Amino acid sequence: MVQFTKLRLSGFKSFVDPTELVIQPGMTGIVGPNGCGKSNLLEALRWVMGETSAKLIRGAEMDDVIFAGTSRRPARNLAEVSLVLDNSTRRAPVAFNDHVELEISRRIEREAGSAYRINGKDVRARDVQLLFADASVGSRSPALVGQGRISTIINSKPRDRRQILEEAAGISGLHSRRHEAELR
Ligand code: ATP
Ligand code: MG
Repeated sequence: MVQFTKLRLSGFKSFVDPTELVIQPGMTGIVGPNGCGKSNLLEALRWVMGETSAKLIRGAEMDDVIFAGTSRRPARNLAEVSLVLDNSTRRAPVAFNDHVELEISRRIEREAGSAYRINGKDVRARDVQLLFADASVGSRSPALVGQGRISTIINSKPRDRRQILEEAAGISGLHSRRHEAELR
């Protein structure tokens, strides 16, 4: 399994100043009052893994992840998030497997879009998305459960709930192929 070891943010949503979070093995809890930025951290994780939908990280457009300013501080024009992975078990895709540590970064400049890097080398968004998909994570992974998602699951109809469970178990592809076979 890939281990996330550090998350660095700068200019991302409410994390205007450079912030580094060390992620130790095992369970990590993030606690704090309403509005302190707990959900922003989960969104930073989704974003650095290559999320393309601004809506899924509570924005109207992607530039909304950039610190928008407060009454005391001016807005920024740049946001950057980096995620450091421990690759000592060599589970990363072959192209990156000579590195014990992988640092994936995404930065966005106002009206200029996003740029991605892996260990300082420019890469495409697709390369980052594939790296995480191969590691069974990723911005849309059922492993990331957003706020309000639990009550949506509890309140959903049994059929919809089954679909969520099938997605989590990775068998929705099998299910749709069975459906195709039955129609023949
Ligand atoms: P809760 O406990 O209510 O779920 P939370 O800890 O999850 O709260 P978040 O939703 O992560 O809090 O943070 C919300 C805060 O982030 C708000 O104060 C909001 O103004 C701020 N915020 C979001 N986007 C930006 C931005 N682009 N620039 C500046 N601040 C932002
Ligand atoms: Mg929240």
